[in-house]
Amino acid sequence: MKTILRGRCLCGSVRYECTADPGNASYCHCDDCKRATGGPYTVGVLARAADLRILSGQVKGYTSIADSGRRITREFCPNCGSPLFTRAEKLPDSVFLKAGSLDEPELVKPSCQTWTKRAVPWALIDEKLPSFPEGRLPGKE
Ligand SMILES: [Zn+2]
Ligand SMILES: [Zn+2]
Repeated sequence: MKTILRGRCLCGSVRYECTADPGNASYCHCDDCKRATGGPYTVGVLARAADLRILSGQVKGYTSIADSGRRITREFCPNCGSPLFTRAEKLPDSVFLKAGSLDEPELVKPSCQTWTKRAVPWALIDEKLPSFPEGRLPGKE
């Protein structure tokens, strides 16, 4: 169910809110997400780009080419470096919110995990979740 999610970066200069369904979320174990977050995986909440409102501050983006050959832009706070959003060329009307940047990350309920062939053995997730060895977008077949 959609609700208003609020979040911010570590230093607090970037604050945002977004109407989104916190159950429309997925783990990504790909190597780029590992590097971009410094963690074993990232968790993204899929939202409509038009529903994201930056309340303060400005993000900086870094674009790279994903294994799919398409562009992925990761947006972060230029002051503290916190990863905040991911935008995929394949989904121009959508944005992924980094679950860890939310004020209430406990609301997020990932429904699947992607790129499990790159998962590290020390980051085990609920094995009952639908898992995909490579990329797959939540809510899409
Ligand atoms: Zn910041
Ligand atoms: Zn990834």
